[in-house]
Amino acid sequence: MEECLFCTIARGAFGTEFLYEDDQVVAFEDLHPQAPVHVLVVPKRHFDNIVDGVPAEVLASMVAAAQAVAEKTGIASTGFRCIMNTGSDAGQTVQHLHMHILGGASLGEGLIAQR
Ligand code: AMP
Ligand code: ZN
Repeated sequence: MEECLFCTIARGAFGTEFLYEDDQVVAFEDLHPQAPVHVLVVPKRHFDNIVDGVPAEVLASMVAAAQAVAEKTGIASTGFRCIMNTGSDAGQTVQHLHMHILGGASLGEGLIAQR
């Protein structure tokens, strides 16, 4: 069976540069950035999305990663958005849990990000 894309990236098989890594998660730049800073936080274990029984320690690491990435990329003070697309109505295209961190420019006030 073909391995899930983000499982492959998270185990380091593509040599992707990680902006953050701990025992639970990695963070790397999105291939098609939609903001000056666009980073994905991805658990090392496979979960389809946020309603797939994700344990607390994984969620804690995802938040720690968001904080570390925001500080490293300089957007902690200017602000940023964290998005976890879940299922088809949200347009989830990669079926491995991930959190988008978007910042570096004004993202507007709406809840729905412009594509
Ligand atoms: P979503 O629509 O929430 O499932 O987001 C999936 C994201 O993964 C999109 O923003 C893609 O640009 C991004 N993406 C897809 N393939 C890769 C890849 N190989 N490396 C980095 N980001 C990717
Ligand atoms: Zn996976």
